Amino acid sequence: MKTHVKALVVGGGAVGTSIAYHLASAGWDDVMLLERDELTSGSTWHAAGLLPLFNMGYATSHIHDYSVKFYKTLEAETGLNAGFSVVGNLRMAQTDARMDEYMLYAATAETVGIPHEWLTPAEIKARWPLVRTEDLKGAIFHPTDGYINPADVTMAMAKGARQRGVVIERKWQVDGYAWTGSEWQVSVTKMVEKGGNLVPSEETAVITAEHVVTATGNHAQRTAKLLGIKIPAIPVEHQYIVTEPDPALVEWRKTNGEHPVLRDADAKWYVREERGGWILGPYEYGAPACFEYSVPESFRADLFPLDLERIEEEYMSMIHRLPSSETVGLKDDYNGPICYTPDGNPLVGTAPGLRNMWLAEGFSFGITAAGGTGYYLAQMMVADEAEIDMASLDPKRYGADWMTTEYAARKNEECYSHVFILHHPDEEREACRPLRTAPAYDRQKALGAQFGCVNGWERPNYYGPVGAPDSFDHDSRSFRRGGWWDYAKAEAEAIRQTAGIIDATAFAKHVVKGPGAAAFLDWFTTNKLPKVGRINLTYALTGAGTTRTEYTIMREEEDRFVLISAGGWHAYDRDNLLKAVADKEPEFGRIEVEDWTTRFGVFALAGPNSRAILAKLIRDTDPETALSNKRFPWLSLRKIELEMCPVVAVRVAYTGELGWELHHPIEMGRYLWDRLMAVGAKHGLKPVGARAQNWLRQEKSYRAFGTELGRDATPLEAGLDRFVDLDKAFHGKDAMLATGIRSKCVTLLIDGPADADPWGREALLLDGEKIGRLTSGGYSVAFGKQIGMGYVRPDLAVVGTKLKLRMFRELWDAVVVEDSPYDPQNAVIRVDG
Ligand SMILES: Cc1cc2nc3c(=O)[nH]c(=O)nc-3n(C[C@H](O)[C@H](O)[C@H](O)COP(=O)(O)OP(=O)(O)OC[C@H]3O[C@@H](n4cnc5c(N)ncnc54)[C@H](O)[C@@H]3O)c2cc1C
Repeated sequence: MKTHVKALVVGGGAVGTSIAYHLASAGWDDVMLLERDELTSGSTWHAAGLLPLFNMGYATSHIHDYSVKFYKTLEAETGLNAGFSVVGNLRMAQTDARMDEYMLYAATAETVGIPHEWLTPAEIKARWPLVRTEDLKGAIFHPTDGYINPADVTMAMAKGARQRGVVIERKWQVDGYAWTGSEWQVSVTKMVEKGGNLVPSEETAVITAEHVVTATGNHAQRTAKLLGIKIPAIPVEHQYIVTEPDPALVEWRKTNGEHPVLRDADAKWYVREERGGWILGPYEYGAPACFEYSVPESFRADLFPLDLERIEEEYMSMIHRLPSSETVGLKDDYNGPICYTPDGNPLVGTAPGLRNMWLAEGFSFGITAAGGTGYYLAQMMVADEAEIDMASLDPKRYGADWMTTEYAARKNEECYSHVFILHHPDEEREACRPLRTAPAYDRQKALGAQFGCVNGWERPNYYGPVGAPDSFDHDSRSFRRGGWWDYAKAEAEAIRQTAGIIDATAFAKHVVKGPGAAAFLDWFTTNKLPKVGRINLTYALTGAGTTRTEYTIMREEEDRFVLISAGGWHAYDRDNLLKAVADKEPEFGRIEVEDWTTRFGVFALAGPNSRAILAKLIRDTDPETALSNKRFPWLSLRKIELEMCPVVAVRVAYTGELGWELHHPIEMGRYLWDRLMAVGAKHGLKPVGARAQNWLRQEKSYRAFGTELGRDATPLEAGLDRFVDLDKAFHGKDAMLATGIRSKCVTLLIDGPADADPWGREALLLDGEKIGRLTSGGYSVAFGKQIGMGYVRPDLAVVGTKLKLRMFRELWDAVVVEDSPYDPQNAVIRVDG
């Protein structure tokens, strides 16, 4: 066996095999794959092989799209037929809300270029008369997907990989990883058969690898332990059943083609044909997590016993939809472990705290995602970044400090049971909450706060009626304007007209200090560093010159800075920062990083009356002038005292109004909240949630990470030239300049439907041609119409360009407006007093 390779892939399921294939096709000629048993012996062998293109996420839609196209090419390349039945995929809707969901999904599909058709119940009946349609509203149909044989497609990828020089070794188990500072030493053990079990032998070896990729499926918890990290990939039991031949189906097939894969989302199942019978795959409630700590040695290509009772409801609903299946018996059943993560997206990218260690874990649609994951992960490894933004799959989107095995298991069970729920864009999932709460949580709840969850933190989305039933938020969700909309509108208006307070405690906060801090940050970020007492907006780039993170950087002292970034990306930002510091410390001198995320709370106070509110609380030798432009100019920070609370106040407001961010010791959060609310009452102070803030920031064209800002666009493409100092050298600069401008970020005002706002997923068109897409959307209280931000062809990023936006299958007028359409001169932000 080879003992030195450039890249070692661990795990020979569909995912690992695809990664090995794509690393080789991206040009790495020294790749080895190790599998502890046989290829496909993990979850891959018992998958039903469906390849649904339907996906609500932009990155995952690209991944699935790539897979479906790639699998169609494999036979020509390898001579192996992977059994791809391109029968299409019919998603039926029983309700108008479900049709709305499909229309929102179709928006993402259009931006990715995934073909789809709309069918009425009558059209469904005419094409597939065995399907009962009288209670349907319609369906969306993908003609280009279908199902594949999971083992065969894996074997075809393995053959293609071998043809490209990949070495595949079976019956070798990875048992340990040690980083030498420049490469991984991977301890492996030969596995042997003993009494039907697979057990370690005496034969061992150490393989040196520059890069390691783990794709260990249900063994992710063992992998996590070996690496000393947390990986929230824990399987859940998933079953499907196969029926005996259905005489009506057999008869129909004599003169007709195969049915598409049928999905009755409201009944929580998929059904496809299998040798004259049906396969029913339900996503039922109550499926338990398994292997929370490890896979037992005795579990190989095994299955769990069928639990028919658990899927009785779905079984009955199949009979309702396909009445001919009623008298057909059961032939076979599969109940296997299917890996999940708390949000259902796999974990793909660099491992936290480790170098050259790549994770590809937690795949619940791993046959569908394998091809695209291999393709885009290979791009990340070989060329520094993928052409799409892979942040939504980044393994570090869950914080290691707070995330536990119990959390992952319970969230994964919830995620499994949510596969077929209505995927409202304003959905907030209930499991494992509340978990991380800021001190004012109870106060906010008493005021009617309806919370969302960001990286485990409870954060008010909006304030609904006081004393509302627990179901209020659930019942308020919609693909159009939900029951929360009027509350968010009133909050946005309060910030524009009087004052609002937003709890922004979830922000990630890192202190960077020491003799090397300034030189390091100058290299690490794009903007000029602020002077002492001032703040700047700045960007850390990837090696490919795209945006990795947005920071507000506060300079407290000459060599002491505070970096504020999005709360959802705490662990991701910390990992990147710590790795960069470790790399650059020898060059720049000592740099210390302290994570203050959970030490400081933040309230954002904004609105024309915010100065008057603070003036009542500030204790200062001259309170009259303490908050004036002279003593406290825009984009500056000062240590102040608000009665008994010491505060680092920053004159900035993400809502684009006169305002201050109040960073305070977290244990004083409730005191400060109470004092601000008490004093603010006379000044129209209103508690405000994240939804109103999201609308308001679009009126100011403030980009957000994860929407306008991501690893697929440079800050110049994002239109942030004024925060990029081209006179200095910084990380990613050359790559950023070499990339040029492929598309450009703009703000648009939209004359949309009367009952809905864009969600930031919709396609932008000119003369019927797709020329861009929205990345954010909402309602503008300043303009009384819909607003959005997004990317368009660079020549169209001109104020006044008239475009069309597709929502709910109709086209609506959208016009490109100047950046910061509300208060473009920042006059209200700078107002003196
Ligand atoms: C009943 C059922 C039906 C499903 N249907 C579908 C479907 O229709 N469509 C779809 O897209 N997905 C489906 N899935 C999900 C799909 O099976 C998985 O997402 C997919 O197989 C995951 O592939 P993988 O390569 O990540 O993991 P696996 O296939 O589990 O492969 C991981 C491999 O890593 C090896 N390994 C682990 N640890 C080590 C180590 N230390 N050293 C060496 N080797 C190691 C294991 O032996 C294993 O072979 C289904 C799952 C189930 C349970």
